[in-house]
Amino acid sequence: MRKKIAAGNWKMNTTPEEGLKLASQVIHMAQDESLSDTTIIMSVPFTHIESIKKIIPPTKNILIAAQNCHKEVSGAYTGEISAPMLQYLGVDCVVLGHSERREYYKESYAELETKTRIVLKHQMTPIFCCGEKLAKRQENAHFDLVKEQLSSSLFELNVIEFAKLVIAYEPVWAIGTGVTASSEEAQEMHHFIRDIITKKYGDSIAKKIPILYGGSVKPENAQSLFSCPDVDGGLIGGASLDAEGFIDIAKSF
Ligand code: PEP
Repeated sequence: MRKKIAAGNWKMNTTPEEGLKLASQVIHMAQDESLSDTTIIMSVPFTHIESIKKIIPPTKNILIAAQNCHKEVSGAYTGEISAPMLQYLGVDCVVLGHSERREYYKESYAELETKTRIVLKHQMTPIFCCGEKLAKRQENAHFDLVKEQLSSSLFELNVIEFAKLVIAYEPVWAIGTGVTASSEEAQEMHHFIRDIITKKYGDSIAKKIPILYGGSVKPENAQSLFSCPDVDGGLIGGASLDAEGFIDIAKSF
């Protein structure tokens, strides 16, 4: 059985103090018995990692993620954060290839492959994002685009490396817009993603890889999305900034 995952992406929100308060509320509520087999991930700003990490109990189901890391381990890259720095702080996962980073920072397929490798090398789990803009869907080119995003950055990994990934399908038109993919649209794409993974890495790997849906997930729509057979949870932006709402989403499996 695949892991059920509710991952909050806080983006560039909250001060360290506000973030610590939000994290402590999430951690408190996440210890509810009904969530014992759901993995809760908080993807927080770099400045919050150290203090939040200290209050996470040593249970297996509450993890901390970073929202990016640099592709090199060290060097003259003013303002950047490296994988060894994150590993040192005890970070479990790193979100890579979020559409905001692809768009604003022009992250290329090659750069994302390097980042994926560096994150894996430092024993952290990449949460690798993919997803199309509205125009691609309207042209019916969304499947080709998602296939290209995954194959160009990930399909040179070996089976052992690939098996450690989490994939997040996030249609760009649904991120922060309040418009969510229907459960049929989400299932169709998740099934497609699992299918291309099967063709490349085989059925047993494809069956193990968690594929999260992201894009305006809320407590009201989480249940219908999470009940799709190939949707293993969510990457949740705006709604993860409210502990109660986020935990309601996590309880929607
Ligand atoms: C995201 O940033 O990954 C995201 C899905 O945002 P939102 O839930 O706000 O659409």
